[in-house]
Amino acid sequence: MTLKELQIGKRAVVTAVGGEGALRQHFLDMGVIPGTEVEAVKLAPLGDPMELRIHGYELTLRLSDAEKILVEEIPENRDRDLPGKNRKSTEHPGLGETGKYHPKGSGEKLPEGTKLTFALVGNQNSGKTTLFNQLTGSNQHVGNFPGVTVDRKDGVIRGHADTLITDLPGIYSMSPYSGEELVSRDFVLNEKPRAIINIVDVTSIERSLYLTMQLLEMGFPMVVALNMMDEMTGNGGSVDINAMEAMLGVPVIPISAAKNQGVDEMVQHALHVAEYQEGPLRQDFCDMNDHGGAVHRCLHAVIHLIDDHAKRKGIPVRFAAGKLIEGDPLILKQLDLDQNEIEMLEHIVLQMEKERGLDRSAAMADMRFSYIMKVTESCVIKPKASREHIRSRRIDEVLTGKWTAIPMFILIMGTVFYLTFGLIGPFLQDLLQSGIDALAAITEKAMEQGQVNEAIRSLVLKGLFEGVGSVLSFLPLIVTMFFFLSMLEDSGYIARVAFVMDKLLRRIGLSGRSIVPMLIGFGCTVPAVMSTRTLPSDRDRRMTILLTPFMSCTAKLPIYAFFVSAFFPRSGWWIISGLYLLGILNGILMALIFKKTLFKGEAVPFVMELPNYRLPGLKNVLQLLWDKAKDFLQRAFSVILIATLIVWFLNHFDFRFNMVEAEAGMLAAIAGFIAPLLRPVGLGDWRIVTSLLSGFMAKESVVSVMQILFGSEQGITAAVGPLTAASLLVFSLLYTPCVAAISSIRRELGRGWALGVVLWQCAIAWIAALLMRLIGAALGMA
Ligand code: GDP
Ligand code: MG
Repeated sequence: MTLKELQIGKRAVVTAVGGEGALRQHFLDMGVIPGTEVEAVKLAPLGDPMELRIHGYELTLRLSDAEKILVEEIPENRDRDLPGKNRKSTEHPGLGETGKYHPKGSGEKLPEGTKLTFALVGNQNSGKTTLFNQLTGSNQHVGNFPGVTVDRKDGVIRGHADTLITDLPGIYSMSPYSGEELVSRDFVLNEKPRAIINIVDVTSIERSLYLTMQLLEMGFPMVVALNMMDEMTGNGGSVDINAMEAMLGVPVIPISAAKNQGVDEMVQHALHVAEYQEGPLRQDFCDMNDHGGAVHRCLHAVIHLIDDHAKRKGIPVRFAAGKLIEGDPLILKQLDLDQNEIEMLEHIVLQMEKERGLDRSAAMADMRFSYIMKVTESCVIKPKASREHIRSRRIDEVLTGKWTAIPMFILIMGTVFYLTFGLIGPFLQDLLQSGIDALAAITEKAMEQGQVNEAIRSLVLKGLFEGVGSVLSFLPLIVTMFFFLSMLEDSGYIARVAFVMDKLLRRIGLSGRSIVPMLIGFGCTVPAVMSTRTLPSDRDRRMTILLTPFMSCTAKLPIYAFFVSAFFPRSGWWIISGLYLLGILNGILMALIFKKTLFKGEAVPFVMELPNYRLPGLKNVLQLLWDKAKDFLQRAFSVILIATLIVWFLNHFDFRFNMVEAEAGMLAAIAGFIAPLLRPVGLGDWRIVTSLLSGFMAKESVVSVMQILFGSEQGITAAVGPLTAASLLVFSLLYTPCVAAISSIRRELGRGWALGVVLWQCAIAWIAALLMRLIGAALGMA
């Protein structure tokens, strides 16, 4: 039968994996290989995709893909396979026995002063970024979602000035599946770090070691950091470190990155293998007695065949041979084999397939997993049931439960919005605003007494305090929003949202993974666009990038908050929520249009790991908030300050640089050109046009510029009615993203697309604002 037909709660053994190409390779790399035990955990609330348990972790899979996997059900009463269940816990060396298990001093030491470069390589969510932050004292964003690190980041290991460590995107194998995985593989292959720090999540050790195998095959100096040891030992599991080192041939160090345990020892080992360039003692994992030794013979034949080519091209030969057998086209091209050799290669592989009874990719994956099984069998004592996992299952009963998942999603997001805009945000905002007002009053008095020049007084009070000050007061709102977004992300909930929403998103031509960039987009479009690199297909990635700007970012909050409190104070947060919803609806509409026109075709398969829920670390969350606040303040005092000052200047001087009334200033003249375009939607006032223009620099400055141009808040309410306010809100929601967002879109998609985004978003905003105006007028607004 197929995996799709396996009843929920039942276990089965995989007998064959169908499908083809990169997707099939990905299945195999994630551990779905013949002979593996799987358990059908549940279906998503909408009936698709399904959640599986395999190799001790949770994986999601669409039913249409599950259909391609053949399984054989396991009778109820058979025991679960728990590695090491018949062994007693062994004594093993604790931390701090630096260098005891690895031969030292072999080989030449690198010359003094050589820069030691390290690559931090591991699965997604294995704790790479947490470790990186511990090592460098830096504060990269840590999240509990596959794919939070989207680009490499470099840093120096604290206390070791001659080092450079690079945090890479998480990968599951050396066969790249998504764009960011290619970043990691290329880094290791091309930039040849002096040593690799392979971080292994010990709570799902079989899957993590799969990558370790491939790294070992490459032969670089390496250490294995067994992370999350705290969870492992906390639940009564243990690892025989000595035995594992003997089997892997590299130093293995148990650590807990989050608790900073064992990290120093790991650094000592890493420095040592890098300094002495100590490669793994073992690279060969095929067993000549395994299934008649077919894979073993095939691998060694291919190694002989390509040895000279690989040496010439500088590709590790054992690794290249493995990839060639799997049929990796990139490596095949790089090796530059001649026709004869290619035919020979094919012949060797065909022979192996015949003898082994498995196809090439499955045979290779099976060879690696067989060795991993031997390692875990003899080195790992798994906890019977981990508390974290039981807890995750319980939480999931509600958060991904059939009837509760979607109501809970709406409830959670609603609560987040209510707390941000209804409760915490406004409270803090009032507090900050009164502080700024008090400071402005003091400054005004001081300047009056000091008889400061009128122009400067106007600049300081109107430009600085009203302009930048009014933007500053929105800092609490933005920080609160980011606080909740990062809580959702760090806890592991966003991964569940992707699982629950996959079917819905597929209707609009995307996959569940696209929900992540979109939710991040509610914070800021820039990181949202960057996070799309985790999407495995180019089509999904492009489409998601074009949709994220419709998710209203926090920089637009000042505009909403200001106009809502000035014109619609009683229905405040309903209107703001409505605007967010309008943005989302627009996104859906655009997606449907894209699906029919620019981006025909199917969304990519949804193969994703569901990490255990973890309580976000307070330090990480505070760090993130501080980063966001700093970022915002920097913008407020650079881009926004400059924009306000320029506006103030253009506003108070004419083309002959005489100080004049605003109507005669340069700004009025410039904005006058564009005004006719916006007149039909009711935004033809040159002062509004100007503030919208400054919004292109930074959305936060729209309100501050308006304050300057209209003189004061009262000035705005006197000149603008609710109807104009409504259409302005809609226009601000939808019109072009700010320069920062545009430039990140350009980085991902190129100049043409970036320009396109600016133009069509303005067009959409124009149409929507016009509709708003018509509807408003029909409702009797003025
Ligand atoms: P990355 O995707 O590999 O960069 O992983 P992150 O550094 O973002 O960490 C993923 C999750 O694992 C976060 O929720 C961390 O707080 C958590 N984590 C990292 N290291 C440890 C550890 O040693 N013990 C425990 N219990 N959790 C950890
Ligand atoms: Mg990371």
